[in-house]
Amino acid sequence: MFILFITAILLVGCSSKTEEKSGKPLVVTTTGQIADAVKEIAGDNVEVKSLMGPGVDPHLYKATQGDLQTLEQADTIFYNGLALEGKMSDIFEKMKKEKTVSAIGEVVPADRILSDPMNPKLADPHIWFDIDVWKIAVAEITKTLIEEYPDNKDEYKKNEKAYFDKLDELSNWADTRINEIPEQQRVLVTAHDAFSYFGNSHGMEVRGLQGLSTNSEYGLKDVQNIVDFLADENIKAVFIESSVSEKAMNAVIQGAKEKGHTIQVGGELFSDAMGAEGTEEGTYIGMYKHNVNTIVDSLK
Ligand code: ZN
Repeated sequence: MFILFITAILLVGCSSKTEEKSGKPLVVTTTGQIADAVKEIAGDNVEVKSLMGPGVDPHLYKATQGDLQTLEQADTIFYNGLALEGKMSDIFEKMKKEKTVSAIGEVVPADRILSDPMNPKLADPHIWFDIDVWKIAVAEITKTLIEEYPDNKDEYKKNEKAYFDKLDELSNWADTRINEIPEQQRVLVTAHDAFSYFGNSHGMEVRGLQGLSTNSEYGLKDVQNIVDFLADENIKAVFIESSVSEKAMNAVIQGAKEKGHTIQVGGELFSDAMGAEGTEEGTYIGMYKHNVNTIVDSLK
């Protein structure tokens, strides 16, 4: 029995190793958003792995032993930067000495980066929610991949152009849908402040309970402020996020109820993590559409 068990471990060990060695360059990313962009640009030429799957909160994420191995095996690493992956920055600094490690958010010009309203010295890292800003970061992926694999230049440029056309179409579609919400009701309330770029690019006011990082605490006073705001503005719905606990928003709903104002949960938004792989929400465009449809259908 014992021998059988050992053999099973060896077999599992072997098969996962052959999987990792597909012969294609291995590109490792932190978030699913970045992995999706790499797939769009590089197609089948590279193998892409993202460390953070559905429901994972990047602000608090610590690399596992398996992640360190994956990063060690990677040919190229892309991460968001702007302190999104707060607990992983030391690892990336170290890896930079060995291979190409690119923080795609850090090439975005300073005047396109929003700051934390509570602490203007801190950059808001949630750049994927402004499609035009995200295109700047994705262009850095294209540039880096062409530097690494110059033979594929024409193909990567062509893929980027086709993808950017789809992203422009997505942005226009989102504007049209958001215009269905009466102007006074264009207010997005969530647990943590992930949607400032989204609000900024589509003309919505955004309020978060927790600040930019899920690390920050919120108090009774923060809940009360949001509750007063919702009641005064007569806002119908607030939203939960797939990568953040529902506790905070439940406190807001309860607080509003005590004030005699009924608030609905408008649905679940993908903020820092995308949906499951293989589903529509597991792609950047799919999760963006899901968010827009969920927001508009609850607030209009
Ligand atoms: Zn966040």
